[in-house]
Formats: sequence, structure tokens, C-alpha cells
Amino acid sequence: MTQQWIVPLEAGSEKTRQLLGGKGAGLAEMVRLGISTLPGFIITTEAWKTHTPGSRSLRPDLWKEIKDALSDLERKTGRAFGSPQDPLIVSVRSSPLISMPGQLKTVLNVGLNDDVLDTLSKLTADPGFAEELLGRLIQMYGEAVHSMPKGWLSGASEGGGQEESAEGYQAESGTDGRGCVSDDPVDAFRKKTGEDFPQDPYVQLERSVAGVFDSWFGEKARQYRESQHIPCDQGTAVVVQQMAFGNLGSDSGSGVVFSRSPATGESGLYGEYLPHSQGEQVVAGGITPGALGELAEELPQVYEELRAVCARLEEHYRDIQDVEFTVERGKLWILQTRAGTRTPLAAVKVVVDMAKEGLISQSEAVGRVDAALIGQVFVPVFADASRKGLVARGIQSSPGAATGQVVIDAGKVEATVDRGLPVILVREETTADDAAIMPLVSGILTGRGGATSHAAVVARGLNKPCVVGCQAMTIDHQEGVVRFGDVCIEREGYISIDGTTGEVFSGWKEVVSPQFGEVEELHTLLSWADGMRRLRVLADVSVPAEIETVLEWGIEGVGLCRTERLYYDSAFLPVFQEAMLASSSASRTAALEKLETLHRQEFRALLRAAGGHPLTVRLLHAPLDHFLPERDALLTELTELRQLFTWNEEIGRKEELLRGVDAWRQSSPGCGLRGARLALAVPEFVEAQVEALFLAACDLADEHVPSNLSILIPFVSHSGEIECVLRLIRAVAQRTMEMSRATISYRVGAVVETPRAASVAGELANMVDFLCIDTDGLTEAAFCVSRDEGRRFLPAHAEEGITAGDPFTSLDVHGVGSLVRWAVERARAGREGVEIGACGNHCQDRRAVQLFDESGLDFLSCHPAHLLKARLMAGQIAGGV
Ligand code: ADP
Ligand code: MG
Repeated sequence: MTQQWIVPLEAGSEKTRQLLGGKGAGLAEMVRLGISTLPGFIITTEAWKTHTPGSRSLRPDLWKEIKDALSDLERKTGRAFGSPQDPLIVSVRSSPLISMPGQLKTVLNVGLNDDVLDTLSKLTADPGFAEELLGRLIQMYGEAVHSMPKGWLSGASEGGGQEESAEGYQAESGTDGRGCVSDDPVDAFRKKTGEDFPQDPYVQLERSVAGVFDSWFGEKARQYRESQHIPCDQGTAVVVQQMAFGNLGSDSGSGVVFSRSPATGESGLYGEYLPHSQGEQVVAGGITPGALGELAEELPQVYEELRAVCARLEEHYRDIQDVEFTVERGKLWILQTRAGTRTPLAAVKVVVDMAKEGLISQSEAVGRVDAALIGQVFVPVFADASRKGLVARGIQSSPGAATGQVVIDAGKVEATVDRGLPVILVREETTADDAAIMPLVSGILTGRGGATSHAAVVARGLNKPCVVGCQAMTIDHQEGVVRFGDVCIEREGYISIDGTTGEVFSGWKEVVSPQFGEVEELHTLLSWADGMRRLRVLADVSVPAEIETVLEWGIEGVGLCRTERLYYDSAFLPVFQEAMLASSSASRTAALEKLETLHRQEFRALLRAAGGHPLTVRLLHAPLDHFLPERDALLTELTELRQLFTWNEEIGRKEELLRGVDAWRQSSPGCGLRGARLALAVPEFVEAQVEALFLAACDLADEHVPSNLSILIPFVSHSGEIECVLRLIRAVAQRTMEMSRATISYRVGAVVETPRAASVAGELANMVDFLCIDTDGLTEAAFCVSRDEGRRFLPAHAEEGITAGDPFTSLDVHGVGSLVRWAVERARAGREGVEIGACGNHCQDRRAVQLFDESGLDFLSCHPAHLLKARLMAGQIAGGV
């Protein structure tokens, strides 16, 4: 047989993760490391492939192998399955390759029947113990095999009504304190399913395995896979493992621990522990367990061992671990380990700390952080740091402050969000059913569950502020209100939560995001990346305040400052229109003078903000008809007026305006008069810009503010165009400097955004100080599609698989990428060592940055939103990590 269906835990390892699933591989690896795990075997993902969905039995040859493996397990444990003498009890656990929290089934306590229960009840003086085991088995078996809803047996299922309070679970030590036994579970099972609960442990086992296999096909599981891009043919392995009993009294219990805080990355164990419990209650988040401190106090030697295990696992996996454990009468058993999901802030802090601790290298640390998440490090906080309005505290489980309208009904989330209102989802607990709406809300607050509950895990993954286990809260579904003691938040009222501290406030609280300078580990990580990268990273910013911000981030300068921003300014635009539409040269000159003054102010502010750091100003790029009133609207107004009057002054004015608009109108402005061409067609406009720029630099020189100025000539396709614009720039520069008696050194560059410019890049390189390849422009020209028009049909291209995605977001490395490489080769052939950079939206695209790096570009210039990402990516790419 070539197919491997069964792997004993001691025979597997992380190397066969594909076959064993994450949980199975982790357990096998722990056996190899000598960590105390319970014996068991794994039914592989290959075996899953043999399963007929919906069938309660397994393929006979597989079932035979499972029974053989079980015999082996009996031998290893010295116990017998279904026997009243030393009975072997097992759990049947799902083990997908990629964790799907709460979506797949697990059945505990498989192997119980009346005889076995009789024996087990003698293990302890507690009369509820055996009953509780059976209750949990029937509950979980019902869910896995008969698709019963979660908690169906305890009456705690959705719509079940009588939900037990968290205190109820913890305070009472009687049988009903364990959340299962209300009715006789065997009777309840018969009533609900119309079948007898099988006494034969082998039937329990076979059907449980089939049920866990089948849970892969559940609707929610399918949706989850879709949202996480998990292939649907991957399937799940199944772990069959001897049970440890965490419910054998006060020296037993179960819990979940993170080797470091998954919220902030702070080192030290972080987790929760519930004495006298069978694990799945903690994991499911149906109750609010205590912090680990209880374990440290009650069972210090177990706590120490747990700490040692976590350290060992961290050392082995060299990553933060999320570990599930059970204590049976003072003996620690580790039941699962996996990489802990963490917030971006924790992700950064953990790798920086680990590098400092010597667990990983600096370059590994740089490689470990998902560059796409780096911008999210700045989790929001409340502007008002006072505790005004504090109504309760819960467990902090995903950091960040959020404020919004209380919504207790998951079905109302979408409508509220659609009305533009931020939502705080308030629930007793969240379930897998809420996964679809959780991305929409601003924050999540639950009454029950701990830091590893469903709400907490999902919220952390989504990077949404979340507070769980807020026991002081009651949700009144009848009235539609939420109460904290005598404070009542009415329907549509506001609430604020702080996922970093666990605090809950009534009312609206302003939220702000923390400053870059405050996240020290981020600086450290970025400085390591800086040390690795070859590409310089500059910013695309056009506003003085933004320039100041990016410089604070440690960005070395501005690679692209667009002048168009000013043109839309309410003071500037009418004057510019005046200049464009002027009927006499005198009135045009007057308007241009005003423009120059406005430009000069703006350039002064920009240069001052740059404060001697590189500032690259791009000359006017947009087609000028962008700045004129819309022709269609104008025409409609005129028509309306003409219907009312034969002629009046307003009609006259509008007619003249229309003539002016028509004079500038272009039918395809994208391919028309713009960029360098403007300098030839209407040199006085460009001259006004350039003159203002040099005057501003001279003004600042007077004030001893240095400038490091570069001018970019946009949209060139011919060296002759550059020649003209260069002549203009030089003449104006000289004239202005003589007038101001100042010397301003400056550089001139050209934008390569037409295929012709790429093809003659060698010629261009000889005329200017540097070249900047605009991949957005090049994409438009290469596909001959404008970005706006492309929105109508490019998504269909991507769906058909024609393009790998929107070519304006993910660079078409094959086609447009060749043009980039070509431009660089030709430019460098024309003039060795000429400085070349790239700008545009693609600077956030990993494959594009990879291409820029490989082609030997000197810099990239990218939008502030992606700057940190680009900086980290450039380091990762150059370092090959
Ligand atoms: P999930 O993937 O939903 O976390 P698991 O298979 O990990 O499901 O099981 C949930 C919990 O059940 C575990 O965290 C553990 O506490 C408990 N559990 C599973 N198997 C055993 C076992 N053999 N002995 C004791 N507890 C177990
Ligand atoms: Mg688990």
C-alpha cells in the first residue's frame, strides 16, 4: 500500500505536516522533544480522502487499520478499549493543516459504556465525575455525528434559552456546575436523535472519526475556508489520543497558554486556567476562566513545568506558541502547540525581543513580520485618557480602542454599518456564526469567554479591539438594552471599549492612533531592515504636514511632490481658470502673477517642511482641461437659461466661458496636452511654477533654511522635449538667482512613463541627473488603458485569469516589468551609474519591489500609507528573507 493512512504519534514529525495536519504534527513533534503528551495515533489527510461525505462508516480497509492502531495503543497504555478493567478512553480530534478555530469537530471521552463508567466512577469520590464524562461525550458526539447545534445538551445552545451565567459555572461545584448534565444525557440523546446512544465503543469511535472527517464539509467551515483562502481539498487529519482527565478534583484542570502575550508581545506566560475542567470549555470560550495566576498559586510545580515547556517549545519553533494543556491530579499533559496568532504590534515586539534574546537572527526577525500588517502597529487609543464613564472591566484580548453604537443582534450589524455608524458588537459570546459580520464591526465585547475564546481569537486575527469575559454586563434581549449594574445603554446608544486595558465605557469616546515614535520595537525592526535593503525609500507626499510626518518616521526625503494638489485649492483654482481663459495677454499676465505668488507661498511651506531633506517637485502633469468647469454641466445651464430668456448678460458670460472651455478641451486628455508638452505649448504656465519654486528656495536661503531640490519633468517621450524644458528651467533659475543674489543647487530628472521614454532611456539619461520610472503611467501606456476606464473591465480580466489581478495594483511583471528592465538597461548603457528610481502605486506590491531591487534601481518613492511596508519589504527582499 502506498497510501499512508495511520501514523502513530511517535512516528510523525513536523516534516510530514501536510499528512498529519497542524495539531497532529505538533503533537508528534512534542513526542520527539520528550514533552509529556498522551499516546495516540493520527489518521492522515490521505485517509480523509477515502471518506464518502455524509457516511457514518469508514472505508472497511481504513477502519481495519484504525482498529489495529487502537490495539497498538492498548498495548502501549496497558489499557483496553471498552473494557471495565483499566479502560482506554480517547479523544477524537480534528487536525487540519491550517487552524480553523471552532469550525471542525472534536469528540472527547470516546469509549464509555455502562461497564466502563462503573469503573471510572471509582476513580474519585465525586459522584458527578462519570456522569460528567458521559454528558460531554454525548454532547460532542451529538454535534459531530448528528450535527446537533453547539451546547444542545446543556440547553445552552443558540435559542436554547436557559444560558448559565459565568459565575454559575465557577461557583457551583455540583454536577450542573460543569455545564452538561441537566436531563439524563442518554435520554436526551434518544429524544433528539430518535436513536439509542451506542454502547459499543467501537461504533462510537468509527462514527466520531467519520463525523470529524465530515465536519470539513460544514457550511460554516466552507465559508471560513473561502475567507481565508484555504484550499477545500486539503481535508483534515484526525488525532485519536488517550484522554487525560482534567476534572478529577481541585488538583486537576485545563487551560490555554501563550508563551508571550499575543496582544502586546510582552514576554512572560499569558493565558488562562480552569480547575476541574475538561479543556474544551476553556477553548470554546463559553465560560470565563481564571488567569494563570491561580495555577501558579495552587500547583506551583505544574506552573513551573508549563513555563519550561513553553520555553522549550519557543526555542524549538523559534516563535510564540499557543499551547493547550490539561492537568490530571498534579500531572501536566500538553495537548496542542501551534504558532500563536498575534496582533501586528505583538508580531513586531516578539521578533525584536527574540532577536535580542538570541533565539533568532536580526535578519530572520525582519523576515518574520508580514510587511502588509506593519502599518497596523499603530493601534488606536482614546484621546481622553481619563476613566470617565467607566462602567466595567473585562478581559483585554485584542488591543486598541473603539467606540460605536451598541448592536446586540448580529443581524443588525450590516444595516447599522451601512448607515455609516461604527458598531460595537455586544454578545454573551461569539460563535463561528458571527465570523462573517465580525470584520464589519469596530469592536467586540462579550460577557463570557477568556482571552482564547472565539471572539478573542477572531478579533485578534482581524486586528479589531476586543474585550471578553465582561461579567458585570447583562444583555437584555427583550428590551434590546445592555446593563452594567444600574447603568443602562439604550437601544442605539453608544459604548466604548479598550481592548488594551479591558475597560468598558458608556457613551462615545474619541479615538486616536498612537504616534510612530512611541513604538520603539518598530524603529528597531525598521532600522534592521534599513541595514539590509539596497533600495532607498522615499515618499510620495505633497502636503507640508505630511512631509514632516514621513521625516519623523525616518524616511530620508520626498521622491515625488505633486504640484496638482495646489491647483484644486479654492484660492488657487479660480485664478488658474482666469489665466487659462484670459482674453487678453494683459489679463493673463495679471492672473499669472497672482498664481506665482500663491505657488511661491506653497513651495516655501514645502521646502521648509523638507528642511534640507530631498524634495522632488514634479512640474504640472495633469491635462489642463481638468481644471476647468465641466462642459456638460455648463451646457445644461445655458440651455435652461436660453429657455427662459432670449439673451442676458449671464448667458453672454456663460457662452464666453463655454468657448474658453471648448478651446482647451481634449477628447482624450490622457494622451493629450500634458506634462512636458505643456512647457512647449503654454510655457508661461510652467515658467510661473518654476520661477515660484526658485523664488521660494531663495526666500528660504535668506532665512538660512537649506533646500535639497530636484525638479521632475513629467510625461516625456522625446529627448527634444527635455531639451526645451531644461532650457526653460535653467533660464528661469539663473534669472531668479541673479535677482535674489542667492545660489540654489538643484537637480533635474525626467519621468519615464511612456514606452518611448523607456526605449530612449539612454538618451534621456544623458540629459538629466536622474530618471524616475512611473509604473502606473507605464501600465496605462503598455496596456493602452486608463486606470479609470479599466475599472469597468479589468476585474473581469482578473476573474478570467487573464491577468493575475488588477495591473494597477499588482504590477504586470511579465509585460510592464519588461519595459522597466528595458528602461534600466538602456539608461545605464547610455550613462553608467545614472540614478534611477520608481514611483507609483506598485511600490506596495512585493513582486514589483522585487523587480525594482533585481533591476538595480536606486530608489522607490511610495505613498505614506505604504511607506513602512515598502521599507520592510525592501529589506526582506534584499536580505532574501
Ligand atoms: P480544537 O481544535 O477545537 O481546539 P481540540 O482537539 O484541541 O479541539 O480539543 C479541544 C480541547 O479538548 C483541548 O484543548 C483539550 O483541552 C481537550 N482535549 C482534547 N483531547 C484531549 C485528551 N486526549 N485529553 C484531555 N483533554 C483533551
Ligand atoms: Mg485545540
